[in-house]
Amino acid sequence: MSLPIDQIRGLFPVLHQEVHGKPLIYFDNAATTQKPKAVLKALQDYYEKDNSNIHRGAHALADRATRDYEETREAVKDFIGAREAAEIVFTKGTTESINLVAQTFGRKFIGKGDEILISTMEHHSNIVPWQMLCEAKGAILKVIPINEAGELVWKEFEKLLTPRTKLVSVVHASNALGTINPVKKIIDAAHAVGAKVLLDGAQSTSHLDIDVLELNCDFLAFSAHKLYGPTGLGVLYGKREVLEEMPPFLGGGEMIKEVTFEKTTYNEIPFKFEAGTPNIADVIAFKAALDFIQELTKSKIRAHEDGLLAHANELMHDIKGFNPVGTASEKVSVLSFNIHGMHPFDVGQMLDAKGIAVRTGHHCTQPLMKRFGIEGTVRASFAVYNTRSEIEKLAESVAQIARLKN
Ligand code: PLP
Repeated sequence: MSLPIDQIRGLFPVLHQEVHGKPLIYFDNAATTQKPKAVLKALQDYYEKDNSNIHRGAHALADRATRDYEETREAVKDFIGAREAAEIVFTKGTTESINLVAQTFGRKFIGKGDEILISTMEHHSNIVPWQMLCEAKGAILKVIPINEAGELVWKEFEKLLTPRTKLVSVVHASNALGTINPVKKIIDAAHAVGAKVLLDGAQSTSHLDIDVLELNCDFLAFSAHKLYGPTGLGVLYGKREVLEEMPPFLGGGEMIKEVTFEKTTYNEIPFKFEAGTPNIADVIAFKAALDFIQELTKSKIRAHEDGLLAHANELMHDIKGFNPVGTASEKVSVLSFNIHGMHPFDVGQMLDAKGIAVRTGHHCTQPLMKRFGIEGTVRASFAVYNTRSEIEKLAESVAQIARLKN
């Protein structure tokens, strides 16, 4: 049975507005998704009824807030199939999760001459933290090349993987191309040389079923705001034995067991990595977003989004001057393209004038754009509330814009 999209759209107040006098068509979902009413209500309920600091309060409000905060941790554990809630660390987002691993695991376990492998299609947040670490430690960053379709070149990956490789950090699904990487194969190959694996799940967690135990990844980083949840909140999953070996990231309250001026002992995981008052309201509201996804099921969400992507490709592939970027056989619902003779930003502005919100530019993947010899792309990315008629409006608008120069 297909999803009741009209009913689902009714849950998202932001979708029901006009932009420049046209009904909003929101295709910037890879940047951030819109939030269902249940998430907005959870935020309001928390501030109206339960607002208090967690874990150390001796009163009813603090108890309720602590319970709800820890319930979200349980829900995240179930959402990604982790063994235990202690393996779920709340952060500010994917970016902070990756930096946490670089600054703790990296500083402890990666030394001079050790190698870190990333891919050409990484987001800047999975490039820069490793460059900073390599600079500090004298380690070496190596990059897996991709082919013209935007897929990893497996043979080159195999060549780059050696006993010197200490960490492989790759994006599960590319935000700029949509490519889904063969992460299970990557993880198995990396483990065979003794390397740990971090998956950047910023784009995959909203579209694909994720089971960290089955994948056997050592770390998974993702952001709540790309999963219909609040901004400024992310998750780092790590295997217990790996997290326990890692030193803390930030120092302060919550992450300690005992402090004296001579020596501090640290809290258990995950609290060791959650210094200071956390983002309580957003963590609590995130559970409503996870419930929303779980109720629809990822397989139905993906089937709907795949249908939208196929429809877009079908309608747009023979528009004169339309050049798709990223044509991998396995993709999430991201359509990146250029129009011959036009700057992506100008195309984005023209689409905006028609009420269609897309992203333009390098999508925080400058080295990837360089690989394709382009400055940027126009990116339309689809979510569960998008419709076939919105895709038809996009295709019609792109055709009109393309005719200006082709
Ligand atoms: N990695 C990928 C693949 C992304 O798409 C993004 C965000 O666009 C990030 C990392 C960074 O996420 P955040 O800005 O939420 O930390």
